[in-house]
Amino acid sequence: MIDVKNITKSYGKTQAVRGISFSIKEGECYGLLGPNGAGKSTTINMLSMLFPPDAGQITIGGIAIAKSNTRIKNMLGIVPQEIALYDKFSAWENILFWGSIYGVKGKALEDKAEDLLKWVGLFDRRKEAVKDYSGGMKRRINIACALLHSPKVLLLDEPTVGVDPQSRNLIFELIQQLNKEGMTIIYTTHYMEEAEKLCNRIGIIDKGLIIAQGTLDELKTQSNVNDMILVDCNQAPDEKMLNDKLKTTVSVSENRISILSGDSKKDLTRVVTTCTDAGYEINRIDIQKGNLEGVFLKMTGKQLRD
Ligand code: ADP
Repeated sequence: MIDVKNITKSYGKTQAVRGISFSIKEGECYGLLGPNGAGKSTTINMLSMLFPPDAGQITIGGIAIAKSNTRIKNMLGIVPQEIALYDKFSAWENILFWGSIYGVKGKALEDKAEDLLKWVGLFDRRKEAVKDYSGGMKRRINIACALLHSPKVLLLDEPTVGVDPQSRNLIFELIQQLNKEGMTIIYTTHYMEEAEKLCNRIGIIDKGLIIAQGTLDELKTQSNVNDMILVDCNQAPDEKMLNDKLKTTVSVSENRISILSGDSKKDLTRVVTTCTDAGYEINRIDIQKGNLEGVFLKMTGKQLRD
């Protein structure tokens, strides 16, 4: 359905995307997971035809993308990171406006707008100005706007940023439902839990490159990550000292140490001894089974949220 081959994009001297390739089959939910500045929005913006790649090709539904291609435009629903709503207008007015942009008109538009507003749980509040909406409500309207023309592919760029937990859960449910109904989805996030929960396949992106991709299980096998030990200390620990002593991938962020472990049962005592020998008071220890955070740490030596 979507083929991305070796695309690049620079802003002046900043190489935001440095040769990214991936393919997505119809009906898949593909996650682009990476920290801030990794190149996720730039990639999504090229897929959205906001600007072309400097090099490389993108095909959607077998058609090479170009700004003027209305067939591709009709196939794509876009939920950009920046909420694209007119604050002074009501949700209803916003949604009708976006419908007209997508070429949906008259009764068909009003029916679809009503269905979608009910689906995102905001039909009863449709007459209120969007400026009085919470971040989560605005995002839900934004998702509804992207679906007015019944696209085949939905591109979502970090749709849960600035969203309350209740709306966040609802957004997950909406996306899962769309995917179950057969929609092809690309979802960018810097939250590994979101990628794990929603996506059939995940591309881990860092510094403009996809450093690994596959299903969650494939990624864990590729990077040989079993467990992750998380230690919260009373002070900022010394990452280099811990790396030298523990001889595994260790990353420190504020007072938290993340340690990759082949077998946490074996390594735990060594970790505790090393920390207490260094004079760190341990406030809390968590052991997690291999997850995407661990895969990212193994691949890059840093935490996703550094
Ligand atoms: P992400 O979405 O993963 O946070 P972005 O694609 O927004 O990453 O950014 C990738 C890199 O490109 C970053 O270094 C960012 O600062 C830079 N960048 C993004 N947009 C612009 C722009 N309009 N002008 C200059 N640099 C940009």
